[in-house]
Amino acid sequence: MSRLIYLDNAATTKTAPEVVEAMLPYFTEHYGNPSSIYGFAAANKEVITKQRETIANALGAKTNEIYFTAGGSESDNWALKATAEAYEKKGKHIITSKIEHHAILHTCEYLEKRGYEVTYLNVDENGVVDLEELKAAIRPDTILISVMFANNEIGTIQPIKEIGEIAHEHGILFHTDAVQAFGQVPINVDECHIDMLSASGHKLNGPKGIGFLYIRTGVKIRSFVHGGAQERKRRAGTENVPGIVGIGKATERAISTMKERTAKEIELRDYLIERIENEIPYCRLNGDRKKRLPNNVNFSFRFVEGESLLIMLDMKGICASSGSACTSGSLDPSHVLLAIGLPHEIAHGSLRMTLSEEVSKEDLNYVVDNLKAIVENLRKMSPLYEDFVKKQNK
Ligand SMILES: *Cc1c(COP(=O)(O)O)cnc(C)c1O
Repeated sequence: MSRLIYLDNAATTKTAPEVVEAMLPYFTEHYGNPSSIYGFAAANKEVITKQRETIANALGAKTNEIYFTAGGSESDNWALKATAEAYEKKGKHIITSKIEHHAILHTCEYLEKRGYEVTYLNVDENGVVDLEELKAAIRPDTILISVMFANNEIGTIQPIKEIGEIAHEHGILFHTDAVQAFGQVPINVDECHIDMLSASGHKLNGPKGIGFLYIRTGVKIRSFVHGGAQERKRRAGTENVPGIVGIGKATERAISTMKERTAKEIELRDYLIERIENEIPYCRLNGDRKKRLPNNVNFSFRFVEGESLLIMLDMKGICASSGSACTSGSLDPSHVLLAIGLPHEIAHGSLRMTLSEEVSKEDLNYVVDNLKAIVENLRKMSPLYEDFVKKQNK
């Protein structure tokens, strides 16, 4: 039996069996369109409301502030484009960070082509946004601040509450992409002054193709999909009932297991970090050591090519990633690693391993043992490393 160790949970997660089980009847027995009048189908309306309630409770929000979408990317697009349009009379300036997911960055580029101005905040060497720089970037025509809750590559958690406070002191809307954070860290939208929040089912052991956008009551935001009256006329289209049941169940599960699950993940994460730092020379941990997602490990190894590392790990049955899933396959180094100040050649030798509750310490021992040997072998083939060693021995 060949071994498979899945360490790419920031790219996607396994749908939990109980989530699949909860979804199944909504494909087969309860397939009615929730907008239909007869009871058989209309019952699905209540089922949807129940899921909305579960998610709202998880965030300290109201039930009617949760809007289902087709995932994190759609929620991010909606939050930015529709706010830009609805508030353009107030101004056309948006503030975000340099380390956002492409669903935010590419949407900002789209808006820039349409006459909006975007300020991209720098981050420090651990990937944290500077609050003073944020304050200085605010202008009378700033309509939106969008900063991610936690980064998908290096796991850094932002000072979200402080950012929200600054936004609200200035009467500016605050959106956060919480796709990586939702279900991993406690979030309360009131405490953090969040007006809009994006999340996605498949990053929390739910199904793919379903997500939601939280929109605070009173926020003027335009409809994203025009058509029927679904999602309070803001996002038309027959509801993805099985998906909605799936993300509801996944949320319930993530919230109820959060404490225990993340405690276990943190222990494993720190064990993995410690072994790598102690046993593999010339490496650097990327991301903040403390303000970090419970399951994220990201290292750069000097004199090593990230892609080669991934291929060799794959041959040992280890699934990891060099940056975000969207950038792997391209040869550009990750924008996140460049933003934290890594030179190109070091950013190229980066490895992201994101854990889950299914990973054991024994799995991690197998990973480190193989990683050590692979890094050593790759370095042996590197002329740069050879030069480096020669210089060291002089
Ligand atoms: C995965 C991810 C997204 C995109 O979510 P999808 O549901 O795959 O569209 C957006 N933002 C972050 C931070 C992510 O990790």
